[in-house]
Amino acid sequence: MRLPESQWDMPLDYETFAEVGAGVGHGGVVMFDDSVDMAEQARFSMEFCKVESCGKCTPCRIGSTRGVEVIDRIRANDNREANLTLLHDLCETVVDGSLCAMGGMTPFPVQSALKHFPDDFQRAANGDRS
Ligand code: SF4
Repeated sequence: MRLPESQWDMPLDYETFAEVGAGVGHGGVVMFDDSVDMAEQARFSMEFCKVESCGKCTPCRIGSTRGVEVIDRIRANDNREANLTLLHDLCETVVDGSLCAMGGMTPFPVQSALKHFPDDFQRAANGDRS
């Protein structure tokens, strides 16, 4: 199967989305223009999980809390490269170790932002919001 050039140029089904690390959501589509700070949106995703986690399993309960903290450190340019590595590892742990889709899918937008919009994490670190 040919992989799509972007996440727009592909069929809307679970298998194709999973193949490129994307996910089909439930009940809504969120659109951003090119002025949005995707590092901030990644933080929002982790914070949402932190608030909504039922607390049953550790990767989701603690991972989301640590995820917010790590993203804040990246955006503050605090030991940036080490914290980017830590964020990648943390996302993998939350995906693999969470019991339900709430925790298991929370890192997807974070991983996607890191992959497709790395400049936003750098820009945030520089304090440049333009
Ligand atoms: S992954 Fe699901 S079951 Fe585990 S703490 Fe999060 S919401 Fe609860």
